[in-house]
Amino acid sequence: MKTCARCKKEVEAWNERCGGCGFTLVLEPDEKRRAKFLRGPSLGAFLFTQGWTFGARLYFWFLISLIPVFGIAALVLGVIFGRRWSWKYGGWSDWEEFVNRMRMMDVIGVVWIGLLAVVYFYFRFT
Ligand SMILES: [Zn+2]
Repeated sequence: MKTCARCKKEVEAWNERCGGCGFTLVLEPDEKRRAKFLRGPSLGAFLFTQGWTFGARLYFWFLISLIPVFGIAALVLGVIFGRRWSWKYGGWSDWEEFVNRMRMMDVIGVVWIGLLAVVYFYFRFT
């Protein structure tokens, strides 16, 4: 969380503009990089929603993702807002831990889809 220099309202880490007064915050290069990462879509949530929500410590969304139709909502919201929610509610000890987990979950998502593809083609063509 950052604080608006003009109205002292708290601003989320991924916002560059204050929601209270519209003031544009000046971000350090480091903060800018973080804000960009947090606003980015989550590949892992797209490929492997249930595992991703668990790994991202979004346990509420993990439970939601187990319910068939609601699982689709968890997927869509997870892709769009997943990183922001995970950063805010995940209780990470620092940025590095969070980013490493996010990257790991993206890789796991890719591996998961790869495995499914292998299994599919194995049974389809053998
Ligand atoms: Zn403000």
